[in-house]
Amino acid sequence: MRIAIEGCMHGDLDKVYQTLKRIESQNGTKIDLLLCCGDFQAVRNERDMECLNVPLKYREMKSFWKYYSGREIAPVPTIFIGGNHEASNYLWELYYGGYVAPNIYFLGFGGVIKFGNVRIGGLSGIYNARSYRTGHHERAPYNESTIRSVYHVREYDVLKLMQVEEPIDIFLSHDWPVGITDCGNWKQLARYKPHFEKEIQEKTLGSKAAAQLLEKLRPTYWFSAHLHCKFAAVVQHGEGGPLTKFLALDKCLPRRKFLQVIDIESEPGPYEIQYDVEWLAITRKATQLEMEDCRQLVSSRLQERGTKPFEFTPTARPFDPTHSDPNGSFSGCLRNPQTESLLQLLELPYLLDSTPESREGRYSPSAAHSIQRGSFVHNSEDIPIDDVDESELEEEADDVDTGKELVLEACSEQKSGLPPPLNSEIGQSSWLISHHRKPCKRVVVF
Ligand SMILES: [Zn+2]
Ligand SMILES: [Zn+2]
Repeated sequence: MRIAIEGCMHGDLDKVYQTLKRIESQNGTKIDLLLCCGDFQAVRNERDMECLNVPLKYREMKSFWKYYSGREIAPVPTIFIGGNHEASNYLWELYYGGYVAPNIYFLGFGGVIKFGNVRIGGLSGIYNARSYRTGHHERAPYNESTIRSVYHVREYDVLKLMQVEEPIDIFLSHDWPVGITDCGNWKQLARYKPHFEKEIQEKTLGSKAAAQLLEKLRPTYWFSAHLHCKFAAVVQHGEGGPLTKFLALDKCLPRRKFLQVIDIESEPGPYEIQYDVEWLAITRKATQLEMEDCRQLVSSRLQERGTKPFEFTPTARPFDPTHSDPNGSFSGCLRNPQTESLLQLLELPYLLDSTPESREGRYSPSAAHSIQRGSFVHNSEDIPIDDVDESELEEEADDVDTGKELVLEACSEQKSGLPPPLNSEIGQSSWLISHHRKPCKRVVVF
């Protein structure tokens, strides 16, 4: 199976799919799947744009709405996680995962899905210690505080992922597992991004939650984004233990390292996105049944209806470039039929639109608690407004420079009529990760 991995999408679906098509025609090969490590920006319309945490001047519709409205179809099945620049209202509708557009699947706030026999897990959002032990209390329309905290990783979702026992092939996190820089050429990274050096030295660069999951799940591959640069590492899990090949990638801009293609051993195609039995059993288990009972329930239900996820259903009007609606108001939380069908299948209640005051379910994503310890603490609404961490600020600063670069490239392209000169990392020798390449002093360049 040939998989393309992308760092941040930032709404540039057109450009990324164009690049994939170019790779396919240049190499006479077919790409089976695209994975994206967050900042996807699944913005359907002007109202979704209000839920996206970016400075006003960077608010741009970009290209997702075309795929949502059916004007364009994703040419390659696409699976993504959320980052810190998302239409958070839309992703919340699909908290458990689901199609945001035909052929484009969101893994959920935490989730595991199968593509053919390849098992792909992911954790959406970025780590922030202040939000970690709170529940998912944020509901659209967001205020200055909740528009940020909505994408902070929660312990609830991490503890669910920590219960995965069956092997994971690929895992996605938006921010990097903290400490991963020790397992790669961090000096080179610090030369390219000098402002990371202090955090690297102090071991504060990245997500503690992702590091915990990396240690527990030990996947064959781990992909991340967020810091807008390429970085490779190999993690050896204990003496003689399994290896995880880590790769962080940039966002989609000319001459930037935002895309990598790997070959992974798998059963022969064609491949489909399918529900994962163990993951759905863990989702079901949140109501305190025994895992074995949950697994039996999920297995028998999936035998009846098949393992394909419920189909894409639009829930909001797509953007119309000929008729803009900048002042549209919120009509409250939308229940996504995909989420309702999945919860029905699992015999779970719908809790995503309950307010913190009204919720009763102890094991719901909106309740702050620990599955393992069974403690139940009401989340605080009292999140400080100025909770922009340093990396978020860096990212915004980074966006300022490179945004100009993209505009210039796009203009020159229109004149010449050529496809955009995007750096797809498809160099003669470096576009495949060899399965047999051994790490050299725990460092490998992909
Ligand atoms: Zn990001
Ligand atoms: Zn980004």
